[in-house]
Amino acid sequence: MASNILIVEDEPAIAELLAVNLRHAGHCPILAASAEEALRLIRDVLPDVMLVDWMLPGMSGVALLRELRQGERTRGIPMILLTARSEESDTIVGLDAGADDYITKPFSPKELLARIRAVLRRRSPQLTDEPVRAGGLAVDPSTRRVTFTAAGGAEQDLRLGPTEFKLLHFMMTHPERVHSRGALLDKVWGDHVFIEERTVDVHIKRLREALAPAGCAELIETVRGAGYRFTQRQGATAAG
Ligand code: CA
Repeated sequence: MASNILIVEDEPAIAELLAVNLRHAGHCPILAASAEEALRLIRDVLPDVMLVDWMLPGMSGVALLRELRQGERTRGIPMILLTARSEESDTIVGLDAGADDYITKPFSPKELLARIRAVLRRRSPQLTDEPVRAGGLAVDPSTRRVTFTAAGGAEQDLRLGPTEFKLLHFMMTHPERVHSRGALLDKVWGDHVFIEERTVDVHIKRLREALAPAGCAELIETVRGAGYRFTQRQGATAAG
């Protein structure tokens, strides 16, 4: 799945090389030449992943990481630190500052993409193309198919609208956790999208209707006063 990847790198040649490789892999790179510029860009749109060079003019990459990890809105961004240093103590400083991973320059594009995939799998599984199975349902992001395995073993296709698909995929990759309407808007509709929270209820209702032929509507549980969750727990009560 295409991810918005913010590259914070002051050397134009390296930034361009990174951008070309990311674009080639189907991602959407965004370039910032300083930490300050990155902060301005992030104010508008949250990236899916960030590649942050350690040595930047002005605010350092490590200081940028620290600041973002403290912000409520930015704390969850997967971040990979790019460093020319390979000293173990430097690595520890980077990871302590909040980096999910670090890559020592020079690195191969293949290694970079593998690290990005690993970080996404860990922190944002809804952004990867890997199929998810739970509660008898299988969701495949690469083909956009949702299938249900009936008791006899026969596979049955379920028809979901694009928003219901994203909603189900996000909830299945973050099961058993309660998601507020606001959080679902951020994660499924996109950051900074101004939509009323009751829109979420409309799409949850449609999602349940789409799952009903498979007897799976109960997998989407309403948690009164809190939001919704995907649950496989027996006896989970849908209260609305
Ligand atoms: Ca640099």
